[in-house]
Amino acid sequence: MRQAYLSRIITYYNGELRDFKNHYLVVENGRIVGLTNKEQENFVDYSNYIILPGFVDAHTHLAQIDARAKWCPDLIEWLERYIFPAEMRFKDEKYARDAAKRFFKELAKNGTTTAAVFSSPFKNATDIAFQEASKMGLRVIIGQVMMDMNVPEELKISVEKAERDTRELAEKWHGYNDMLYYAVTPRFAVSCSMKLMKTLANIAKEKNLYIQTHISEQEREIEEVLKLNPKFKNYAQVYKHAGLLGPKTILAHGVHLNNEELKIIKEEDASIAHCPSSNFFLHSGIMSMDSMKRYGLQIGFGSDIAAGPYFSMLEVARDASYSNPISPEEAFYYTTLGGAKSLGFDKITGSLEPNKSADFVVLSLENFDDLDTRELLSSLIYLGDDRNIVATYVKGKEVYKKEKI
Ligand SMILES: [Zn+2]
Repeated sequence: MRQAYLSRIITYYNGELRDFKNHYLVVENGRIVGLTNKEQENFVDYSNYIILPGFVDAHTHLAQIDARAKWCPDLIEWLERYIFPAEMRFKDEKYARDAAKRFFKELAKNGTTTAAVFSSPFKNATDIAFQEASKMGLRVIIGQVMMDMNVPEELKISVEKAERDTRELAEKWHGYNDMLYYAVTPRFAVSCSMKLMKTLANIAKEKNLYIQTHISEQEREIEEVLKLNPKFKNYAQVYKHAGLLGPKTILAHGVHLNNEELKIIKEEDASIAHCPSSNFFLHSGIMSMDSMKRYGLQIGFGSDIAAGPYFSMLEVARDASYSNPISPEEAFYYTTLGGAKSLGFDKITGSLEPNKSADFVVLSLENFDDLDTRELLSSLIYLGDDRNIVATYVKGKEVYKKEKI
């Protein structure tokens, strides 16, 4: 069915930022036909609102939805005190389902249409996460968090079971409906043996899966990694040796990466998920987007729930503009098309261009008619949050609608 949406539409288009006033976004069978100012027969009148491409969250944790805002400025202590007990709860499948439902609903409510998600260390809970993401209709990469050392016994997995679980989940979900994808997800090099990391990297290569992990978030973590892997000069070399770096790898943080590591990551073509809200919250330091850009790395923004307290990518973009001097246009780019590119989805989503999936957000903003493009994006980034989201669509299907506007 053909359906049009009349609105002010802002998107990257043919590589440039465009602001289409009083245009119709024309959608057929979930795909964008085009943008036009020619009157359309069947249309939804969003002329009092703004349409943007759906937001992309390049790094977040489903299993930490109920562990937000637990102050503790040391990453390892924070994990031990709050996060491991939170993830332990996912053994209970009833809780796992309830949490997954709430998590994906929050994503939709915040205008996030595409996300890369860490699940918990349990296979069944991860299977449930896929089921709920599918029901909500979002485009999601998910992985079971794997750890085999330096964590409580209940959260550890053997290398053999890690391999079995990965194969089973990947078989069932990777590429499902062209919407769901599996990522092998070793938490980080502090809690994963080289054997576990190598095993996961090999399955990822064999099955063309995503790889997601954390790198260089805090100094004490880096020291631990080098103590555990004394043969290596730096963190990136540890992952390179394990085979975890490649074009389908998403590395969260990278706050303290040195030039040699940035070079390795570029050579391997892996992406960085910049999580400014999380870095502020845990006092991890400030990641330099300039050095990432100097090395030509792909960057996306991540909410990193629960170290990042909020789901809204508008708020994350705001923090990104505080951590690095980027313009509203640039922050908007990383929240949409740049984020999609960092996950390898830029041919499918991230901008409102013909043949792409109709993944878009409808937003309210007072008196936006008086604002030029920069002012409008600036207002949304510095003042916006979930309250501005009126509706969210993925593949042309409404996945969220605000009850009272
Ligand atoms: Zn994280």
